[in-house]
Amino acid sequence: MASVELKGLGKRYGEAVAVDNVSLLIGHGQLVCLLGPSGCGKTTTLRLIAGFIEPSTGEIAVGGKVLSSPQRTVPPEGRAMSMIFQSYALWPHMTVAENVAYGLRIRKMDKATIDAKLTAILSTTKLEPLAQRYPGELSGGQQQRVSLARALVVEPETLLLDEPLSNLDANLREEMRFEIRRLHDRYRYTTVYVTHDQAEAMTTADQIAVMNLGRIEQLGTPKEIYDRPRSVFVARFIGGSNILEGKAVDAGHISVAGGTLATTGRTLTKGEAVAVSIRQHEIEIATKSDSANALHAVVSRQVFLGAARDYTVVLDDKTELRVTASPTQDIAPGQEVWLRLPAERCRALTGGNER
Ligand code: ADP
Ligand code: MG
Repeated sequence: MASVELKGLGKRYGEAVAVDNVSLLIGHGQLVCLLGPSGCGKTTTLRLIAGFIEPSTGEIAVGGKVLSSPQRTVPPEGRAMSMIFQSYALWPHMTVAENVAYGLRIRKMDKATIDAKLTAILSTTKLEPLAQRYPGELSGGQQQRVSLARALVVEPETLLLDEPLSNLDANLREEMRFEIRRLHDRYRYTTVYVTHDQAEAMTTADQIAVMNLGRIEQLGTPKEIYDRPRSVFVARFIGGSNILEGKAVDAGHISVAGGTLATTGRTLTKGEAVAVSIRQHEIEIATKSDSANALHAVVSRQVFLGAARDYTVVLDDKTELRVTASPTQDIAPGQEVWLRLPAERCRALTGGNER
């Protein structure tokens, strides 16, 4: 069993804290994404797991065995892990087949075993027709597949990927997301996948750990993270959310922009400042004030996008909200509207703007 467990993991560089008290259990065969903006500590966490660097605090256990602690860290070559870097680092003077087989040859396997494993992985990664080419004769996506094949062929217990698609163009990136998930379903290696791209994380992950300032801000399935962000940071980072800032009038209501809203998500303390998130497509625009949980606004802009209409509206306290409406709902800028905000979608968050 190759579960990977991080316990109170921390890494300091002088005064700077790169990773701050991270605890996370990655179950055997699971794919967990570390998702967050640049500088939040994703690569450092991955390098700690790989054994390239030693933790300042805490430990890392694989299959229940401690491999990293401030006292003792097993080096990368003593771990059954493969890491894929942002630059694919292929050998330019070796063919695709030679690149992929390299890890098997240095493990001194016999030729028949190497050939069998090579044939199988080239087939799964759809590289057979390219086996005799050199990296310089391949596109970015093909090099990416070679790099994946090379990491997988040695049958690591754990696969570590650091922004593996960031050098590819948009179309290919989308295709490769599905490819990585497909290979994961096939081989079920315990995988840690680092990315700053929300869609990449949503497509590939069993669980997403959203990171901010060296910490895990929220851990959950893609659906949980999307539907139930807990903090202002997560709501903003996982796109398409509006944030309303109001004041609690009781345990489940806030006053905001001259109105009152019922909220969900957590119990409020009367008088506290509360940020509430609601997604663009969860708000309904009405031209009459005839429902509860509604706020008065004025349309400032609208764009017809074919499948939808994208509105910008301004509340009485000057807060701007974005609303995705039906393409048939055509309301001119300057017109008064009422926004219906379903109570079960008005999610009270923790934290202010700074986190
Ligand atoms: P990410 O991969 O999420 O972009 P990193 O893990 O690379 O973030 O970096 C996290 C923080 O730690 C950053 O502020 C970075 O500048 C700092 N950091 C990373 N490596 C070092 C290092 N070797 N020395 C000093 N600071 C570092
Ligand atoms: Mg990084």
